[in-house]
Amino acid sequence: MRKSLIAIAALALAACATAPDPQAPKVKITPLGSHDGEFCPLDRALVFEDPDGTRILYDAGRTVRGPNDPRLGRIDALLLSHVHGDHLGDLIQPSANAGACPKPDFSVNVTPNSNMVNISLAKQAPMIVGGEMGSFLSAKVSSLGGDPGKLVRLVRYGAQTMVGKVMVAGVPAVHSNGLPAAFLPPEQAKLYAGGLTAYVGEPGGFVLRFSNGLTVYLSGDTGITAEQDLVVRGYYKANLVVMNIGGFPFTTGPDEAAYVVNSLVRPAAVIASHANEPATVGGKLSPTSRTAAFQKAAKMPVHVPLSGKTMEFDGSGRCTSGC
Ligand SMILES: [Zn+2]
Repeated sequence: MRKSLIAIAALALAACATAPDPQAPKVKITPLGSHDGEFCPLDRALVFEDPDGTRILYDAGRTVRGPNDPRLGRIDALLLSHVHGDHLGDLIQPSANAGACPKPDFSVNVTPNSNMVNISLAKQAPMIVGGEMGSFLSAKVSSLGGDPGKLVRLVRYGAQTMVGKVMVAGVPAVHSNGLPAAFLPPEQAKLYAGGLTAYVGEPGGFVLRFSNGLTVYLSGDTGITAEQDLVVRGYYKANLVVMNIGGFPFTTGPDEAAYVVNSLVRPAAVIASHANEPATVGGKLSPTSRTAAFQKAAKMPVHVPLSGKTMEFDGSGRCTSGC
């Protein structure tokens, strides 16, 4: 009798340890894409909100409509994976939902400043970058009257920093990181004759650890790398992945990305990113899309980032609402 009571108590404890607790703190993740309720070709930007209220913007790109985009709210830090125009932000939309999801209207030119720098200056929030991007962005911030000591924070591979209660670490991405000429003043852009670019060090990805334990790997633009196994899973133990699935000719496509999540990082769940296709119509995933192929190939839930729709995740990487 006594033994069975102990066994029942042990079972109850085990159940408590695994059942989701509705009161447990959640991290909110909101995609800021080009078209409300859809997942469109150039969508990259996400806002992460820790239970402590800290808000972090990842790769504003072209779909955040400048610092006054009402979807931004307060921003405490910006993460930049690399300086290509679709991440640093060379063009933006003139208004919400401008153009159509398959072909958004990005007719407002924000070079040479960039969308990221404009948002950083307006919000007085630091841009967290690796490689050699810090010195380039510091010079740009200075030229626009900002304080680079406050607005640019270098976090190279292996290093980490805190934003509120959120740990931000730099991890490798294997891609390229030439600065497009549009981000330079005309006299410097002349150096690009012949197809050369100015290189600003390695591109990067990030690992974020939130105060509820959620540990998110942001792949940036990358191929398959050994560090996804040894570092992202082995050391940081990421339980949620934001994975680039765009494919030819730039990065991992659905098959490669599925290998990364199934065999290397092995998180509880994944958010697809950087699809370079109109993945949804009316908020529903197109069955012939790359995103659908990735969702089918991945062994864990793959969530589709619908612009403006907030997803909530518990500390174990499980989506508890909005997915
Ligand atoms: Zn890209």
